[in-house]
Amino acid sequence: MNSLQDLKKLSDNLSTQENKTPLLFIGHGSPMNGIEDNEFSENWVQLGKEIVPPKAVLCISAHWFTRGTHITAMEKPQTIHDFGGFPKQLFDVQYPAPGDPILAKEAASIIHKTNVGLDHEWGLDHGTWSVVRRMYPEAKIPVLQLSIDYTKGPQFHYELAKEFSSLRKKGVLIIGSGNMVHNLGILNWNLTNSGYDWAIEMNEKFKKLILSGDHAPLIKYETLGQAAKLSIPTPEHYLPLLYTLGLKEENESVSFFNDKTLMGSISMTSVKIA
Ligand code: ZN
Repeated sequence: MNSLQDLKKLSDNLSTQENKTPLLFIGHGSPMNGIEDNEFSENWVQLGKEIVPPKAVLCISAHWFTRGTHITAMEKPQTIHDFGGFPKQLFDVQYPAPGDPILAKEAASIIHKTNVGLDHEWGLDHGTWSVVRRMYPEAKIPVLQLSIDYTKGPQFHYELAKEFSSLRKKGVLIIGSGNMVHNLGILNWNLTNSGYDWAIEMNEKFKKLILSGDHAPLIKYETLGQAAKLSIPTPEHYLPLLYTLGLKEENESVSFFNDKTLMGSISMTSVKIA
């Protein structure tokens, strides 16, 4: 530190950390992570303890894929059990976090890129509650969801995310919840703790591009070759990552956790930006 400029940079960094919520992309994986204590869910619990408690959570979940963009705007979002073939214990989970209709309206009003609809029917799907319930088990912090417009391409989602930036300064924790590598059609149950070669390759490539801040190829993921095609056969689990990256500001740093591929074709790799 030997110049005023350096000092200014330091103080800018400090004030950024103090005033802005971090960004998270969470690889949510199996709905069972919502009730099992394992290496992934333990890190979600830990995140809840580490991060300054937010005023609200806004989650972009892979499991709310709609025509147009919508935000949940009800007082009491229902817990949605949007899966089949799992134990009763998972269907019994209720996560009674409140909504925040005023915040929903405010969030919709700051968006110019598209018309954000106020939704009164959805609630919290497992992409959201399996993670957020572990972070905030008391269910006191309001939780909202933003849907992913399936009629729009990746560039749209990356740019739309940027318009939510001011919510971070208001204490809203924005979480993208999906999986960078997600191909359920070719899961291999014998590869419990490992990924196919192409999944490992793609996981590493994603991390390298995210670390270097080179987002263009991540937006144009369809040009990244065969491993990318296998990793992202459909875009809904990948697009939440583009919301997280779209919100990243220049001076923020990136770290990874739950960095693991499993069952052949899933990556749990998660990103924290602060
Ligand atoms: Zn999922």
